[in-house]
Amino acid sequence: MEEIVWQRVLDELRSRVGEENLETWFKPLRPAGQKQDHLIIEVPNSFYQDRIQERYGDDLVQSLEATGSGIKSFRFSINPGLIKAKKDSEPVRGKAASRGGGSHPLLNPRYTFENFVVGPSNQFAHAACKAVADGSAHSYNPLFIYGGVGLGKTHLLNAIGNRSYQRNRRIRLICIQAESFMNDLINSIRQEKMASFRKKYRKSCDVLLMDDIEIISGKERTQEQFFYVFNDLYESGRKIVITSDRYPKDMPELEERLRSRLESGIIVDIQAPEFETKLAILKKKAEEERIQIPDDVAIFLANNIKSNVRKLEGSLIHLGAFTSLSGMDITLDLAKEVLKNLLDEDRKTISAEDIIKETASYFNIRPGDLKSHRRYRKFTYPRQIAMYICRNFINLSYPEIGQSFGGKDHATVIHACKKVEHMMQNDPDTMRHFQAIKKTLGLGSD
Ligand code: ADP
Ligand code: MG
Repeated sequence: MEEIVWQRVLDELRSRVGEENLETWFKPLRPAGQKQDHLIIEVPNSFYQDRIQERYGDDLVQSLEATGSGIKSFRFSINPGLIKAKKDSEPVRGKAASRGGGSHPLLNPRYTFENFVVGPSNQFAHAACKAVADGSAHSYNPLFIYGGVGLGKTHLLNAIGNRSYQRNRRIRLICIQAESFMNDLINSIRQEKMASFRKKYRKSCDVLLMDDIEIISGKERTQEQFFYVFNDLYESGRKIVITSDRYPKDMPELEERLRSRLESGIIVDIQAPEFETKLAILKKKAEEERIQIPDDVAIFLANNIKSNVRKLEGSLIHLGAFTSLSGMDITLDLAKEVLKNLLDEDRKTISAEDIIKETASYFNIRPGDLKSHRRYRKFTYPRQIAMYICRNFINLSYPEIGQSFGGKDHATVIHACKKVEHMMQNDPDTMRHFQAIKKTLGLGSD
């Protein structure tokens, strides 16, 4: 009986959490009986238990209800036997401490300033958010946070909410996806409850945190209502923070009057993190999740996951789950194997040797010519371009590049890179060669 229910739960969960998360988190579990309206679910260890409870607790309950079996909830029971080769070094997590403690019901308590890693890519956005949360920046209204997918917009938005709520428990704040705002509006219209809609957003709100506003682009009715909400809040000095994956001016279907409102405060952007920030984020998350990750693995991940912090985090969790389940330690080889599909394909496999080969073939010379010390322009020019690509696309150091080119010293490499950089700006042919070689290497533009 439980087996059937469980199968249905898994099917339901698949559509909610996706195949990959299902594999990682739910496939290792076993249904182990039923008590009144509870399903007993066996988990391999407390790491699993806490993660699932924290991340997917609601999804699990809703999936159980959706089976129509009368089972309404679940209890975990730890069964280490589910692990093939358990080791003593298992991460044992305390109670999910971040929950509870009276967090605001509309906020994610895991997203705070304390666990947001600051680097050059996000320091300006971070500073502006903190200023708003601390109430020290009246002129930053509205605050518009712009940035690509998975770079920390939602995290910062919730951090503002959490900090504001910490400072003042009576503050009335709304943190909402623009899409939910839209749905709320549609329902209110349909059920003739616009008065309560207005009250909720325009009268009873001190801080409005709206996530992913790009969704209302082209939705006239929603824009109109948002405009009214905006004006009411703004004129009475209440705070508005908005996130988007586009600049206001890049949302063509945004009404002009709303656009100019959105641009009237301060706009801050979040860029993709550079290497050091990625490494720091990994370290922080590993600590939070109690995952032991060796330096070489962290460096490998930071190098190969190009731009998306969510992906970076996902790969770490994935590794943690895998090793906790299999009992194996995290090693570089294991990481490469487990994360094969997750990693950005383009940078993974390209070596100095590949660059030398492609460049030589493009210029109709032999790889050996690039590694030689021959000084004909026929060889020096391609050699310099190849060195430049090595430096800028696979992040080799100058001495490493010199090594790969038949043992040149690093001053030669620096000279080559400077020269190509200069030519790229002044000589269209160089630019063209460079682009063409990059393309054959599969190094698309970022
Ligand atoms: P966005 O809303 O921009 O798509 P999120 O805020 O959801 O991105 O961030 C994706 C994940 O990456 C979250 O788990 C978040 O905690 C994490 N993250 C992003 N940037 C940072 C950072 N600078 N420090 C720590 N965690 C970060
Ligand atoms: Mg988001």
